[in-house]
Amino acid sequence: MRALVKHHAGEGLALDPNRTAPEPGPRDVLIRVKKAGICGTDRHIWQWDDWAASRIPVGIVTGHEFVGTVERVGEAVSRVRPGVRVSAEGHITKGTDYNSRTGNAHIASDTKILGVDRDGVFADFVCVPEENVWPVHEKIRDEVAAVFDPLGNAVHTVMEAGVSAKSVLISGVGIIGLMAVTVAKAAGASRIFCTDVNPPRLALARRLGAVEAYDARNEGWIRDVRRQTRGEGVDVLLEMSGADAAFDQGFRALRNGGRAALLGLPAKTVNFDFNQHIIFKGCTVLGINGRRMFETWYQMEELVLSGRLELDDIITHEYPIEEYQKAFATMMSGEGIKVLMRL
Ligand code: ZN
Repeated sequence: MRALVKHHAGEGLALDPNRTAPEPGPRDVLIRVKKAGICGTDRHIWQWDDWAASRIPVGIVTGHEFVGTVERVGEAVSRVRPGVRVSAEGHITKGTDYNSRTGNAHIASDTKILGVDRDGVFADFVCVPEENVWPVHEKIRDEVAAVFDPLGNAVHTVMEAGVSAKSVLISGVGIIGLMAVTVAKAAGASRIFCTDVNPPRLALARRLGAVEAYDARNEGWIRDVRRQTRGEGVDVLLEMSGADAAFDQGFRALRNGGRAALLGLPAKTVNFDFNQHIIFKGCTVLGINGRRMFETWYQMEELVLSGRLELDDIITHEYPIEEYQKAFATMMSGEGIKVLMRL
């Protein structure tokens, strides 16, 4: 099969035209991949930064966001049959640790991630355990099913924070931040404020439903948000940038007793005033990792089927996998937002 492989401990990926296809075990499902999304994680793997060098085994097939069709199933698989259109939760656990057994498998201690710890989806075939397979509703398009993974991150963040009838600040409108705008709107957020340093993304955030979209480099925005929220600050902060300054600014714009859900990953240790921003403020801080298995998936399906999510302007490009270099360049230059590859 064709597979996009981390072929060496350095920059780039290579397309292997003759990779051996994975063989499903008794409880596994072999899926023929149709479309796969390029994630920020894949960009780190491509660039081979410190995180990638410390985590990614050389030789691995990359990618974790996808839609495909079941090709073959192991003998103990009962829920899906060949021909069914599916996506899959890319966090794979044995299901035996504390969190897996208490409804929190998304933070299991033994999590293995597709395309990070085990062979992923930038290939003609991928093999995943039956538990992780998500049959795709017939009314949901392939392009949307291919991005369930990051859309699930956005849905999980928004639902954990609780946005209904609340003012919300989304700091960082990259792929997941933009998805969070449309998800928060669909989930009943009253007013959505956004910040970023990329003007076209800010314009798109406005089109997706943000009432204000500020350039974060001009700190006057904090005063403006507070002025528009009774002088108190927003009810909810969704931090999606991981930028050092965004933590300080975001918490300054959050009201006392507010809720902050943090998804963006800072590149290094952040300088942060705990006294002012958390303790005296009495706010609740949530760490967001992955998607709830599988509550988030049900919520996501319902939100997509509601017709209220606007994803067309977020999923911007698609290339055949042979043009993976162009696909990654489009994503990494910022010209594309969510870039798909077709198998
Ligand atoms: Zn992803």
